[in-house]
Order: sequence, then structure tokens, then C-alpha cells
Amino acid sequence: MGAAALPLGTSSKFSAAGTPPQRSFERTEPDLILYNGNVWTVDSRNPRAQAVAISGGRFVAVGSSDDVLHLASGRTRKVDLEQKTMLPGFIDAHTHPAESGRLHLRQVDCDLRSIAKIQAALRERAAKTPPGQWVLGFKYDDTKTSDGRRLTLQDLDAAVPDHPVLVTHRGGHEAFANSAALKVAKVDQATPDPTGGQFEHDAADHLTGRINERAIEPFNKVIPSGYTRDDFREGVKLIAKMMTRTGITSVGDALGTPEDLQAYQDARDGGDLLFRVYCFIHSSWIDRMIAAGVRTGFGDEWVRVGGMKQVADGAISGRTARLSQPYVGHPNDYGTFSATEEELYDYGRRAYAAGWQLGTHANGDVAIDRVLNVYERIYREIPRKDPRFRIEHCTLINDSIIQRMRALNVIPTPFSTYVYYHGEKMQYYGEERLKHMFALRTFLDAGLRPTQSSDYPPGEFPPMMALQSEVTRTDMNGHVWGANQRISVEEAIYVGTMNGAYASYEENLKGSIEPGKLADLVVLGRDPFKEDPATLVTIPVERTMVGGKWVYES
Ligand SMILES: [Zn+2]
Repeated sequence: MGAAALPLGTSSKFSAAGTPPQRSFERTEPDLILYNGNVWTVDSRNPRAQAVAISGGRFVAVGSSDDVLHLASGRTRKVDLEQKTMLPGFIDAHTHPAESGRLHLRQVDCDLRSIAKIQAALRERAAKTPPGQWVLGFKYDDTKTSDGRRLTLQDLDAAVPDHPVLVTHRGGHEAFANSAALKVAKVDQATPDPTGGQFEHDAADHLTGRINERAIEPFNKVIPSGYTRDDFREGVKLIAKMMTRTGITSVGDALGTPEDLQAYQDARDGGDLLFRVYCFIHSSWIDRMIAAGVRTGFGDEWVRVGGMKQVADGAISGRTARLSQPYVGHPNDYGTFSATEEELYDYGRRAYAAGWQLGTHANGDVAIDRVLNVYERIYREIPRKDPRFRIEHCTLINDSIIQRMRALNVIPTPFSTYVYYHGEKMQYYGEERLKHMFALRTFLDAGLRPTQSSDYPPGEFPPMMALQSEVTRTDMNGHVWGANQRISVEEAIYVGTMNGAYASYEENLKGSIEPGKLADLVVLGRDPFKEDPATLVTIPVERTMVGGKWVYES
């Protein structure tokens, strides 16, 4: 499923040992040759090369500069890579591109370092917003403000008294409302908590303004989207620019809606879709998708329908993941579930039976167990070849989880940049638990296929930051978290390229630099194999190519 036939009437099985790969392609006239490079192909049969020839958006030859330049015709453009390092383009297997693009277009970026600065930014936006209309913030992170506490209703009322305000946490599973927002959403002190969500009350039983999980739904219902179809397309255009300049050439949209799917197609029609998209569809739309005869794999190499997404528990960054042991310093706090096992099963079985891949968000070990129960049950009832069940994030693991994942060959999509970027949150999990979180070493040793996954906006997306985080397990302040989970640069690149392709059934189409595959690549200013692991994040991305076209040039 999903793997397109190789183009140009040539076979991908060219490379009998010792045969230069370009030989099979001698009659293909390349549009473009990149030569004199330091190419790491991620193709184990032919790991190092100097040059590639590209035709019709695909690699047609990979080899030495001499051999590949030999294929040039009068119309072939030739680019000297000047010994620069070239890798396959990176695949961010779990992120939220369309949504974050729209947020960047319209909302207040609250990734600021004090509550006072956040108040000032909200106040400034409110001054330009007609009274009664919403002022919305995103990327707020209480652990990155100097105040050592969360935003309160009072903070928000003081900053913006006359507009409803909702600020969402970077983790995406909690939000902060002012009094005007509570009023519009018809939430007061007496409103009961919905299942799977809370309106937080203080010791005196007053609302604090903090709401989490399903308690956010009443707000989402009353906030007018206000986004036009053009805004949706513009959001994709903006985030595609932001991501491709860091070396990302494909993304998995982990929670797509029909409007997101449309936005990707609109951006593509307008020439603004710079990356490829594998778009997961949230379970709330799945019945309509199934009724339309759509299933995983539908689409083409630019915009493809991914799996069905469900959510089993809370967030790591928001400290709501459902754990077997409590959060450090919060002896009664084990996090929260967001769905019952029966719900996950009902939707999961329906979608799976209709040919869908399943991707279920589960961070805590208890939530992962729940998801594995569901996957095992569905697989028992309807065995299918190669289902590629995914556990989105799959953060905190143990031996039994790994054994169960191996039995079903489940794909984990762990956060790639959290150790480096969100180090200050790791204290809530503790040193010991970190040995079993974002467990790339364990996943690889078990023969599983973990991906690179930013989960942007909760996590940062640059692939070079992912490499540094995964290779060093060291945060921005130099603290090491779970050194036992370190992997090598070579493994981290494989995780960020081939494994991403595998997670979307596209390993025959992309993920390595091989003849027949899509010409998606990145040119780096320095070689990650020769770099001090502590400075991987500073390696400049000089150029990014998708489908044979430069989508970013520094
Ligand atoms: Zn996500």
C-alpha cells in the first residue's frame, strides 16, 4: 500500500553487488546533476556517494562524480556541491503543520519568558481587536516563564478585561481562560467537569481559568474559526516555508481535518506546498471518510491520506500523561486518560476493518498498555498483513510494552527534541524514569522502527536539533537525561529518513538517496558525522530540495 511503481521503466533492483548503480540508467537524460558532494545516502547497499543525477523529480543515478557527470547531456544543469554534505530529506512523522501555520498567521505567539511579557503581548493584540472578539494565544509554556507558576484568571483579566481570551499551552492539552471567555463558553463555578476533562478550581472552589483536555471543547465550540479557505492555504504556505528551511521534506500531519486536507491540496494547486504530507484524520471524521470510500494511502506522493488518529491520554509537556507512578512532587497526580478502552476499540476496529492504519496518541505507560490492548484485540479479530499500527509518542515504556510492540511490530513516534528543548520539564518525571522515556535505544535494539517526530507546536522541529537531542540526551542547560537511550548519528539519520518513510508505507518511494526514489534531499553546511555532538544543532541547512526542485536556498 502506498508504494508507487518505480518510474522511467527501470528496475530498482539494479544493484547486484559491485555494479555501479548508474549503469542501468545510461539512456536517461538527467535534468540536473549534483556533483562533488559528500553524500550519505542511507542506502545500505551504497552508503556513500559523490553525485546524483535527477530526472522528472526522481533520482536516476547515484555514484561517483566522474560516473554521474558522464550521464550529462547538453541540457543537463550541473551544480557543484563543493564537498558539502548531502542527506535524504528529513521526514517529521508526527507534527501539526496546517494547524500551526494558521496559529502563526492569526494568534499571539506566547512563547515568552515571563507572565508580564505574555500579558503585554495579549494587551497589544486586544487593542487591535474589536470588543467582544476573541484574543487567542498559543505556545504558552509555564515551565519557560521566570514566574515559577501558571497563568491565572486574574493575570488574564488584568491584561485583557474586555475581550474573551484563551491561551493554549504548548503541550496542547490545557488552556487558560479569562472571565469574559468563561462567560461566553457558559462555564461557571457550578459547571460539572466533563468526562476526560477538568475546569480547575482553587482551594476556595473558585475557577482558576485553567481547563484541560475535554473541558476545552465548550470553548472551541464558541470560538468562531474565522479562517477562510484562503487562510487555511496561507497557513500551509507559511509553515511549509518554516519547516523546509530546516531540512524537512515530508511531514505527517498527526491530526488532520477535512479542511486541513483541503488546505494541503489548495496549497499544492497554488504551488505553495513545499513539502509532502501524510495526513492523519481524526476519528470524529472517520465515518464520513469511510462512507466516501477513502482509506489510508489514498492520494499521491504529495498529499496522501494517512491513518486514523485517536488520543488515549494527556501530554508530556503539560504533565497530563497517564503514568503508573505519580509525577515527582505530586504524589496523587498520575495524569489523565482522554478516552476509554471501549472508545478506542470501537473507532479503531471500524477504521481498521475499512483499511485504515491506526495511530493512537499515548504517552504514559498505562495509556500505552491500553492502546496495546486495543491493537491486540483488533488484530486477533481481523488479522491483516502489515498493519503498521502506530503509537503516537509512545513516551514511557517498560519491558512488557516492548515485548508486546515487537509481537505486533508497532511503530513508535517518540518526541525527538524534548530532551534537548524541554529539559526543564524532565524533573517532573525524574532521572530514573527518563531511562525509559523517548526510548530510541530500546526501540532500535528491539528491532522496532521509531521515527523522528517533533509534534510542533509542542516540540521544536529542526532535524538538527532532533539529532543532537537523540545522540546526546542532553538538554540546553547541559543536564543529561537517560544516557542509556543515546543512539549514534548514523542511527538518528536513519530514524529521521527511512523510518519516517516506513511509517507511512512509503519506504520504496523516499527515505534514502537511491535511483528511482523521489529527489528529496538536504545540503548541510557541515558534516554531522564529523561534528561534535554537542553542536549538531548549529549545523546550517544550506539548501533543501523536494521532487528535484530547490524549495529553500540560504
Ligand atoms: Zn501531536
